[in-house]
Amino acid sequence: MGERYLIALGSNQRHVRHGAPERVLTAALAGLEQAGIRVVRTGPIVRSAPIGPSHRRYANSAAVVETDLRPDALLTALKQIERAFGRTQRGQRWSSRVLDLDIVLRRGGAWSSPGLTVPHIAYRTRDFVLAPALPIAADWRDPLGGGTIRQLHRRLKRAKAITPA
Ligand code: ADP
Ligand code: MG
Repeated sequence: MGERYLIALGSNQRHVRHGAPERVLTAALAGLEQAGIRVVRTGPIVRSAPIGPSHRRYANSAAVVETDLRPDALLTALKQIERAFGRTQRGQRWSSRVLDLDIVLRRGGAWSSPGLTVPHIAYRTRDFVLAPALPIAADWRDPLGGGTIRQLHRRLKRAKAITPA
């Protein structure tokens, strides 16, 4: 039996061949399969306003994947796919990018190594991660006590209702 992970997908740049960010995400799912990473479920594609220095709109989605790869090897594979989609620049957070693939959760529990922290440090307050994850991973539980995806999403909606961003 392989490991299961929740992956977040993001794009805010056109791809020279695939086109608009939504199409990039669809192509990225095929890229995962081509890399031997089985896509078990896919969430909806949501559009969100940009944060940080880039002014382009984002397309985001989520996928539950199954693979024999351990977390470090999976991240290496994800970075390889990002590069195959023409992502070259790194370092500037939230910069414009063709494709961003993050490991949000691992069913087997938390993981920490140089360059990789699972759960992803920021996912609990990101609607663009939680919203597409909700239909496919609502009952996945944060191993560090954050609750389920459903609870995190509900909490975020309530917080937003009180202090609109
Ligand atoms: P962003 O924070 O916008 O996703 P990058 O994709 O450039 O920025 O990621 C920066 C670094 O974050 C990666 O090189 C990777 O080593 C590290 N990282 C740490 N935890 C994770 C995770 N859970 N998923 C993906 N990358 C991670
Ligand atoms: Mg990333």
